[in-house]
Amino acid sequence: MSDKCLVIGEAREGTLRNVSFEAIAAAQKLQSDGEIIGVICGNTDLENQAKEMIYYGADRVITLKHENLEAYTSEGYGQALLKVIKDENPSGIVMGHTSVGKDLTPKLASKLDSGLVSDVVDLELDNGKAVFTRPIYSGKAFEKKIITSGLTFITIRPNNIPALERDESRSGGISTKEIDIAGIRTVIKDVIRKAAEGVDLSEANVIVAGGRGVKSEEGFKPLYELAEVLGGAVGASRGACDAEYCDYSLQIGQTGKVVTPDLYIAVGISGAIQHLAGMSNSKVIVAINKDPEANIFNIADYGIVGDLFEIIPLLIEEVKKIKQ
Ligand SMILES: Cc1cc2nc3c(=O)[nH]c(=O)nc-3n(C[C@H](O)[C@H](O)[C@H](O)COP(=O)(O)OP(=O)(O)OC[C@H]3O[C@@H](n4cnc5c(N)ncnc54)[C@H](O)[C@@H]3O)c2cc1C
Repeated sequence: MSDKCLVIGEAREGTLRNVSFEAIAAAQKLQSDGEIIGVICGNTDLENQAKEMIYYGADRVITLKHENLEAYTSEGYGQALLKVIKDENPSGIVMGHTSVGKDLTPKLASKLDSGLVSDVVDLELDNGKAVFTRPIYSGKAFEKKIITSGLTFITIRPNNIPALERDESRSGGISTKEIDIAGIRTVIKDVIRKAAEGVDLSEANVIVAGGRGVKSEEGFKPLYELAEVLGGAVGASRGACDAEYCDYSLQIGQTGKVVTPDLYIAVGISGAIQHLAGMSNSKVIVAINKDPEANIFNIADYGIVGDLFEIIPLLIEEVKKIKQ
């Protein structure tokens, strides 16, 4: 086995997602003396994305350009990445635990006959051996895993392992690999994003999430305003999505997105176990609810008992004052 670690970068609308840089930091921890190789798939000019990976700590980057890599399909990306993995023969592979990462990495691991430690939130070295921490039972407990043999293949949860400092003076090789992608059975004609523009929910540092207590689509407007002044994103409980106050792409929880922002403001959300599964590992949780017995207060660091329609405008006003 080599001492190379491959980091699979992931872009959205031409920009690499932060988790790609966090994955480089994880790879560096795994192999401080080894070579960190970034890999990016796409069908546009990937030079700038490749440079970003180098600024964030990759030693070199391989770009894979093909018309079948324009939009993600597990077949296209799977074929392209397997070729690079076989050529480079790395001892480690790191990717973000995003929807693409969750779909792609088990397929790659099975083709490589390897194990996979998914959804890693922390990693440390114990006598040179990597120990991975990952949440289990919907975030109610954590387990520690080590890989005893073979490839170290992991996915990391966004927002948990800090990226290295961006350094534009770093340099490294960028190469484009010729790849042959054949026998594709899935063709993506168009991608229509339902998610709101702005900060990506799964990578946001601040999330203002609304529940059924917000009462209407109109009621979400002040939440968007608060999110905007805080530089964050809006999320929702399933209750709010089911009631059609917002799109399901905003749903956080067991059957929605799992998020770990620095600040999570739960507004009019009761705190059902399925919701907590998606946000309980947030660093600071603020709950706003008119019911002092609401379960959300059991996990909140700060609780505000009261009517959200009175509290949110006050918060917006105060944040604006601080920012002036
Ligand atoms: C298999 C399964 C999977 C699920 N997956 C998810 C999931 O991924 N995510 C998820 O969120 N849920 C999920 N659920 C649903 C979950 O069980 C709850 O039904 C849902 O989270 C409730 O949403 P809510 O807290 O917004 O609504 P409610 O439970 O109705 O709570 C509304 C809250 O708003 C407060 N409120 C009302 N008016 C105001 C006001 N003016 N000011 C302040 N507070 C106010 C109320 O006191 C109440 O606490 C799942 C359920 C199942 C069975």
